[in-house]
Amino acid sequence: MEILQIGEPVLRQMASSLSRDEITSESIQQLISAMIETLRNAPGVGLAAPQIGESLQLVVIEDRAEYIQKLSPEQAAERERSPVPLHVLINPKIIKQDDTKAEFFEGCMSTRGLMGLVPRALSVKVECLNEHGENTLIEARGWYARILQHEIDHLHGIINLDR
Ligand code: ZN
Repeated sequence: MEILQIGEPVLRQMASSLSRDEITSESIQQLISAMIETLRNAPGVGLAAPQIGESLQLVVIEDRAEYIQKLSPEQAAERERSPVPLHVLINPKIIKQDDTKAEFFEGCMSTRGLMGLVPRALSVKVECLNEHGENTLIEARGWYARILQHEIDHLHGIINLDR
């Protein structure tokens, strides 16, 4: 699917949450598959549904070892970046975050060609549903915590450049 760029109104909207029945529907399951394919083709580490024009509280995340190998070991260590297996987050909420912030340059597939120095909480706790509609609790730090905050921002119409 095409990844929309800033200027598209859908990127600035509050996305709608999904019910368990909606999550298990064929149309949402197909949307999840299409998002995973789009994420991997880009390639990127996270994709939120508004980025492909669907104003829904749905995110896919995957940070592969092959992406991290493009950084020097020092860069990877400084960013606390390690592989994150593919997973789906629905209706995610940050329920706790570290007061300590980490500041790094960050890109976004919807602001192609732009990078920004973005402070983000070093660790977060996120409550969400998975692709089966099951409750999930995620505790993350380092780059994974950054990806989560970036993607959850997308669901609230916030772009990294705002930060
Ligand atoms: Zn983004």
